[in-house]
Amino acid sequence: MRGDREVNEGPFRILIVGGGTAGWMSAAIMARLLPKQHYSITLIESEEIGTVGVGEATIPQIQLVNAVLGIDEDDFMRATQGTFKLGIEFVGWGIADSRYIHAFGNTGRPIGRTPFQHFWLRGRTLGELATLDSYCLNAAAAYAGKFTRGTDTRSKTLGGLVHAFHFDAGSYARFLRHYAERHGVRRLEGRITHATRDGDSGDVASVALGDGSRQAADLYLDCSGFRGLLIEEALHTGYEEWTRWLPCDRALVVQSAGGADITPYTRATAKQAGWQWRIPLQNRIGNGHVYCSGALDEDEASSVLLDGLDSAPLGDPRSLRFTTGRRKAFWNRNVVALGLAAGFMEPLESTSIHLVQSAIERILKFLPNGPIRPADVEAYNAQTIFEWERVRDFIILHYHANARPEPFWQQCAAMPVPDSLTAKIDLFRANGRIERFHEELFSEAGWLQVMVGQGIAPLGYDPFADGPSDVELREFLALLRQTVSRSVATMPAHAAFLAEHCRAA
Ligand SMILES: Cc1cc2nc3c(=O)[nH]c(=O)nc-3n(C[C@H](O)[C@H](O)[C@H](O)COP(=O)(O)OP(=O)(O)OC[C@H]3O[C@@H](n4cnc5c(N)ncnc54)[C@H](O)[C@@H]3O)c2cc1C
Repeated sequence: MRGDREVNEGPFRILIVGGGTAGWMSAAIMARLLPKQHYSITLIESEEIGTVGVGEATIPQIQLVNAVLGIDEDDFMRATQGTFKLGIEFVGWGIADSRYIHAFGNTGRPIGRTPFQHFWLRGRTLGELATLDSYCLNAAAAYAGKFTRGTDTRSKTLGGLVHAFHFDAGSYARFLRHYAERHGVRRLEGRITHATRDGDSGDVASVALGDGSRQAADLYLDCSGFRGLLIEEALHTGYEEWTRWLPCDRALVVQSAGGADITPYTRATAKQAGWQWRIPLQNRIGNGHVYCSGALDEDEASSVLLDGLDSAPLGDPRSLRFTTGRRKAFWNRNVVALGLAAGFMEPLESTSIHLVQSAIERILKFLPNGPIRPADVEAYNAQTIFEWERVRDFIILHYHANARPEPFWQQCAAMPVPDSLTAKIDLFRANGRIERFHEELFSEAGWLQVMVGQGIAPLGYDPFADGPSDVELREFLALLRQTVSRSVATMPAHAAFLAEHCRAA
């Protein structure tokens, strides 16, 4: 690794390889936050190769990106055909026709230190059978097709609505590109033919472009998509596959006409060997069918997708192949992989763009301005592996805890899952407890909704939930339900909110 760098050698050079969401998000955030006298940022992309062009549903943490960049949310929504997202509805994942929502934000509220689910579980023993949705502002607003900003809904009882976005992936990358270029990022157009490595250190020394020119840097961000141009093709980092737990390996993607219901949530509908997403934008609907090629051929998968649309397709389905898993190291020598170059997890919980965002935060935390130190690299990799594995567990949970009859689903139900997930399920099953470790992405409320939604029933609840009398408990639960329904009644319809605040051209 480069160890001879002096401050007077000029700015530390960051070269971003790839201009999809990962590349331009990295460029925009770094250009905004890094002092220009110490860091230079260049991005190379190839219009001829293009981007994967999917990635349209997000989670609430993305608001932090807008805040850091100083982006006005309405401008951003207009530029990207954006709609608001309050959660993900899962249809048919438990028994056939089952339906639940993993909504952002709180469900109910704790009493003292005892989490809400214990009171809800005790309530069920008293015949209080209302579902979790009735205690969750986000879920109730989503199902009612309502939306307003969280600041208008915040109450002492429940907190406010918490939202993320659906947007057009291509428009989003262009939006970030304009921002990054305005903030000093140098963009080079061209196809990288290969990378050369330093004979002594083994680091990437430069990348060569089709026109014969070369670009060298101190740190390379590999945002080149599935192929991993630097992390894999140049450094042979290796890939850890997770297909034994997440067997889907294909997606068919198609857009369909707008005008259908603009739900303020994503829908994920289980199918015979995979699942189908529906992401409503202002001008069209994004749809895709994630499936296992070992259980379904492409023609069948295409029929499933097209049969499941609720508006006319706007073209033929496009096919994408993937292998679920991660690079053995996310940061190897002087290369950090982000986005699809880092690995792949299917978009069931809309986590990939978030993993790019959190990788950028972490790069900034461990960013060198001189030699790259192994301790920084090790800490970066350990934290990123932890984060990815916990997200992986959450996605496996949806597959594993199912009650569907098809052979694909029965195999998923029977498969041994990672110990970390078994521990989570066992803990919940015993007494309804959920533990969140370190900087795990998903909250207790998220795990609760998915575990209950997928049919995992706890055998007991925390004894502290026996504190209130039966009457007090019933009153507490009724008050929460009332607060939710009254609050939702005052909210505008999602479509009306979009039309008033951020209608796209
Ligand atoms: C089916 C599917 C659905 C998804 N849905 C979601 C979702 O709903 N939510 C979510 O958060 N994420 C989702 N994702 C993931 C999301 O799409 C990606 O995380 C995101 O788009 C980032 O992609 P990327 O920038 O890493 O790669 P890409 O978009 O593939 O960009 C790669 C870039 O590298 C450039 N490049 C490659 N090779 C070269 C070369 N030789 N020379 C020069 N340039 C080169 C390309 O031109 C391009 O600019 C989904 C992914 C898939 C496959």
